[in-house]
Amino acid sequence: PSTLDIQQIRKDFPILQTTVYGKPLIYFDNGATAQKPWAVLKAIEDYYTHLNSNVHRGVHHLSQKATDAYEASRRKIAAFLNARHDHEVIFTKGTTDAINLVAYSFGKQFVKEGDTIIISAMEHHSNIVPWQIMCEDRKAKLKVIPINEKGELKMDEFSALLDKTVKLIAVAYVSNTMGTINPVKDIIEQAHQHNIPVLLDAAQAVQHIPVDVQDLDVDFLVFSGHKIYGPTGIGILYGKEEWLNQMPPYQGGGSMIKQVTLEKTTYHDLPFRFEAGTPNIEACICLGTAIDYITNIGLPAIQQYEHELLEYATQKLSVIDKLRIIGTSAQKSGVLSFIVEGVHPYDVGVLLDKLGIAVRTGHHCTQPLMECFGIPGTVRVSFAFYNTKEEIDQLAAGVTRAVAMLT
Ligand code: PMP
Repeated sequence: PSTLDIQQIRKDFPILQTTVYGKPLIYFDNGATAQKPWAVLKAIEDYYTHLNSNVHRGVHHLSQKATDAYEASRRKIAAFLNARHDHEVIFTKGTTDAINLVAYSFGKQFVKEGDTIIISAMEHHSNIVPWQIMCEDRKAKLKVIPINEKGELKMDEFSALLDKTVKLIAVAYVSNTMGTINPVKDIIEQAHQHNIPVLLDAAQAVQHIPVDVQDLDVDFLVFSGHKIYGPTGIGILYGKEEWLNQMPPYQGGGSMIKQVTLEKTTYHDLPFRFEAGTPNIEACICLGTAIDYITNIGLPAIQQYEHELLEYATQKLSVIDKLRIIGTSAQKSGVLSFIVEGVHPYDVGVLLDKLGIAVRTGHHCTQPLMECFGIPGTVRVSFAFYNTKEEIDQLAAGVTRAVAMLT
């Protein structure tokens, strides 16, 4: 059993004391965005109270302090991912922004007519649409790894897709809709045998499982700050320097240049070449605080506890009449999606909301995945380490009640 003191941890998150319609909030929508601990809330206040200044510009004291904090955060994130170099960590607006950056910049440099990009059938729209846009622009094509009925990648079919036309593989580390943990090490190994780089969408991974980019040998890895207990509007692109150094800038502007004349501009080195304009300084710094916070608790302990929650919830929900879990892989992180025969997911969500239970319903920005299962959407319960088994009991009671009312 878990060694975490959950009641103590819950005190770190003021929003968990909120009531909804007079009932204590039960927050099971962590996959959409996670709540923020006091440490992060205080760091945000601290930044604007004591540090607010632009970075990499000023000669003055505050600007230097803000710059130091900004770069210290980059170092923390590099250490968190075990990146070889700090300059392999680029601050972006989020996962979506980071994937768009790679799609644009990598595409411009390396993708030409007749080439292909591999994604999977379980991708979030933000790991589909940027590649479609780029493929249209470069006259390239998308190839898709299909999934089986458990919501796992069909690895045989993946291997069969690998050929000389493939320029990049972009897949989710963890599915946001089903929680499936994909065999990313195997994917990367096979890809590298064909000299194909791999981008991992780790938006649903870094907050749940320890991630080591050198051990994975991954070429690009992206995630969002707001899903890992940090601020919104900040994300990370990790890229191996040998790739990033070959890629043209995504956006032009201040900070990303070496020298500008009206005829020609030379670009700055990594990481600044990909950080045009004034960044979201507060969020960059406070993402570092969030990473300190969860590193302190410890990802292995978080992973173990969330797994207990998942097993408990799976047990409790699967006995409910007419309920079917979507995504039944043995390799899952703390996400549980389900449908109830004859009941619209939205109606279940609305009834749960009345009980103070926050879940997400719908397609979860994975419409192609919904198509694979032939369903319009699911009810998704996504866990964080501040959730409890008692909350899951209430969820199970709520779902049972909703099913009885709606069928
Ligand atoms: N990929 C996955 C797997 C996600 O879960 C999400 C967020 N739901 C995204 C990408 C997009 O992240 P963001 O909206 O923070 O850019």
